[in-house]
Amino acid sequence: MRIVRTVAELRRALAPRDGRTVGLVPTMGAFHEGHLALMRAARERCDVVVVSLFVNPTQFDDGADLTAYPRDEARDAALAQAEGVDVLFAPPVEEVYPDGFATTVHVGALAGTLEGAHRPGHFDGVATVVTKLLNAVRPHVAFFGRKDAQQVAVIRRLVADLDLPVEIDVRPTVRDADGLALSSRNARLSAEDRRRALALSEALHAFTLDALTGRTVEEALDAARARLREVEVEYVAAVDPDTFRPAESFEGEVLVAVAARVGGVRLIDNATVQPEDELRVEPVKGIPCNA
Ligand code: AMP
Repeated sequence: MRIVRTVAELRRALAPRDGRTVGLVPTMGAFHEGHLALMRAARERCDVVVVSLFVNPTQFDDGADLTAYPRDEARDAALAQAEGVDVLFAPPVEEVYPDGFATTVHVGALAGTLEGAHRPGHFDGVATVVTKLLNAVRPHVAFFGRKDAQQVAVIRRLVADLDLPVEIDVRPTVRDADGLALSSRNARLSAEDRRRALALSEALHAFTLDALTGRTVEEALDAARARLREVEVEYVAAVDPDTFRPAESFEGEVLVAVAARVGGVRLIDNATVQPEDELRVEPVKGIPCNA
């Protein structure tokens, strides 16, 4: 595996392409099984796998969160290498945002709700850095996790709107056995807060069960809220997974998304309900049926 720091080095490392397919997995590091699953998917589908490792300052609205973000490049590089990654692109901030940098990619309404409303500027940072990464790597396929469902919708929108020649491959959320969605931020939870954090996946599970037993969207949201009493909820919402407009019924696919602070750590999670879904009698404890 080669570690490269500049776009020029990256382009040299990827040339000549000779018809080989290139897959990109954008990350901010502190790898866990969710990241590794994306790398495996890329390894399976593509001839050349590039992982980017960049803690993007412009997508953090909270300076303390940026400072506290876990970083361990040596560990990440060893994990990426073990997954058969070919190139790790780990640029310094000044390579991505040199002096004079002045362009922002802004996605409209979809990026202004939920995460966008609670983290002003977040999706401008995401859209701008992802556009830059796609242009730097020029992958055939870019891999993202459904864990960040609104990020997926924003990226799909910008790829369509800007005619970017890349396929977006979205993979399921990887969870711990008790249902907690893996996140680099979980490392900052105390044992007690980790227990309380299970409220997020349990709330999604409650929503899903209500949806599948004929309740209304509002009733299902109430069931979700009832599980979230021990955490500081920022939002819990049922939306269309593409537009992020509020869902009024279960006639189409519905995405339920939650954000909450647990002991000062901000966590997000989501699940989807399809109209054709059938109630599974024995869902695994704490895990939404379709997350
Ligand atoms: P991050 O390093 O947090 O920016 O995440 C990099 C990629 O990994 C994004 O596409 C995330 O959606 C994805 N990801 C993060 N957590 C998970 C998870 N638990 N399961 C699957 N994908 C994930």
